[in-house]
Amino acid sequence: MGKITFYDGVKEIGGTKILLEISKKKFFLDFGMNYKKRNFFFEEFLNPRVANGIGDLFFLGLIPKIKGLYRKDLVKMLSSEGTNDLGSGNEENYADGIFLSHAHFDHSGYISFIREEIPIYTSKITESLLRAMEEVSVTKFETSIFKFIRRPAVGSWKTPGYYGEHKAIHITPEMNFGNVKVFTYPVDHSVPGAHGFVFTGNEGSIVYTGDLRLHGKNKKDTENFMVSASKFNPDILIIEGTNLRGKDTNREFWTEEKVYQKAGEVMKKTSGLIFADFSIRDVNRFMTFYILSKEIGRKFVITMKDAYLIHSMNKAGMDVPDITDENIYVYIKKRKSGTYAEKDYSEKWIKEILSMKPKVVKAKDIRENENAFVFVMRYWDLQELVDLRPQKGSKYIHSSSEAHTEEQEIDEWRMNNWLKLFNLYPKEHIHASGHARKEDLFKIVYTINPKIIIPVHTEHPEEYLKEFGDKVKIVNEGATITF
Ligand SMILES: [Zn+2]
Ligand SMILES: [Zn+2]
Repeated sequence: MGKITFYDGVKEIGGTKILLEISKKKFFLDFGMNYKKRNFFFEEFLNPRVANGIGDLFFLGLIPKIKGLYRKDLVKMLSSEGTNDLGSGNEENYADGIFLSHAHFDHSGYISFIREEIPIYTSKITESLLRAMEEVSVTKFETSIFKFIRRPAVGSWKTPGYYGEHKAIHITPEMNFGNVKVFTYPVDHSVPGAHGFVFTGNEGSIVYTGDLRLHGKNKKDTENFMVSASKFNPDILIIEGTNLRGKDTNREFWTEEKVYQKAGEVMKKTSGLIFADFSIRDVNRFMTFYILSKEIGRKFVITMKDAYLIHSMNKAGMDVPDITDENIYVYIKKRKSGTYAEKDYSEKWIKEILSMKPKVVKAKDIRENENAFVFVMRYWDLQELVDLRPQKGSKYIHSSSEAHTEEQEIDEWRMNNWLKLFNLYPKEHIHASGHARKEDLFKIVYTINPKIIIPVHTEHPEEYLKEFGDKVKIVNEGATITF
């Protein structure tokens, strides 16, 4: 008998943690951070105490209670305080592996706490992206997937055993684990390297979509996945449903081409500085703005962090220009001393960027020639506006999803306050979703044609029920189904 347990991320978007037990193997399908649940207890200045290992996360119910799954260093810390709910650290490995669909933290984040003996099966691009993000981020405890500090953190980075590391095994189109075969397919999503999976075993075949869409530049990948998956006559389809209802479904649904066209119109009309705000991991969006900047004869400016990620993606063989490209400029932020002194830029990753000798600009260079640049910027970089001081006629293009939680609405309000003060209000919202629209989700289900449909990663699973009736099984968090 096969089993699927939905530990997390079912009737909400993100935090996916699904356990598939098939032909005596156990695989997790993603092991993400659940932002929504995390927000019940934590915020910017109230965080899980790193000094308490996974204690805070466990007691607040942010990770499932399973023995033999979590890092031994963390479990030992917890059991030394009299809590054996996660075991002693001496149990056998609970799972044979984690299949990680893509590099978004709501699918990958809490792999940080998984034992390093349990391998992560994922694409080379997903691994490269996650490693690059770890390198440039400051708060690492909950998102250190590939290189983590063992707890309790005694000693220093020079002490042997101070760091631990998860191993990624790069997926191939067809993989064998005893009687289980896993077939992997690239799918189109707002981050490159995303995959959908088909698992076949003695008990049947299971399809997991991860996050995907049918309106992006690589829609052919999603189409190929749908058609290929249908050939297995799958018993169960576990499918996302982010856009089944919500703000995006009520208005015209934009494609990446539409973003290119609309952003182009706005950019051509802009006389001052242009800001583009999008996730740097969204390579298609990066290319859209990079190409547009070139077309209108402006230089494309990215921050050092973005430069590091772009450089990593380029190194991983992705089709993005490297940071030495003639049209890319790297923006040097003021750091530490505030005088742009060389010693202020001593981190390894910054040195790596600067050693490549990209063209660099400082705020003053942009301020004095603002109509020559497109500046790639995000919420966390808003302080740069103080140095950039854009003049009237400048424009802020917000090219990511609209606020849908209370916290995001507060952030948006705060961002608007900045934009009002710096001649950038109102901003332009130009975006194409990373997730399939409702009609496309239905098309995916009709094509794959499974016997049972299980919606996850959605606040509106009942929309599938309305379309597909009895075939749909709406599960609650923690539920196990057998097949
Ligand atoms: Zn997701
Ligand atoms: Zn995603």
